[in-house]
Amino acid sequence: MTKDLYNKLACPYDKSAPLTLSVFRIAGEEIVQGLLECPSCERYFPIIGGVPVLLPDEYRDPKLEMPFLLQWRETIGERLFRGHGFRMPPRGKAVETAATADEAL
Ligand SMILES: [Zn+2]
Repeated sequence: MTKDLYNKLACPYDKSAPLTLSVFRIAGEEIVQGLLECPSCERYFPIIGGVPVLLPDEYRDPKLEMPFLLQWRETIGERLFRGHGFRMPPRGKAVETAATADEAL
């Protein structure tokens, strides 16, 4: 995916643009791995192998996206695992920490 294409993308759910772009791996002009996030609905969309996966919720498969999330977990942090909109199963340290903090209150 190039920056030119990025400038044409919008959220498939609410058509918001521009999406927030995080670049994880770039080769020349091509964004090979990265993440698009919608500031409106807080859905995220992975860029895998240069392809932005901008699918409506009903066509998304967490099993296909999990390897990507796990690969970039250190970079992304835990927020996607407990995000809004298209949700991943809650897991990981940040979730446990938040639960513990809530219990402490
Ligand atoms: Zn959106």
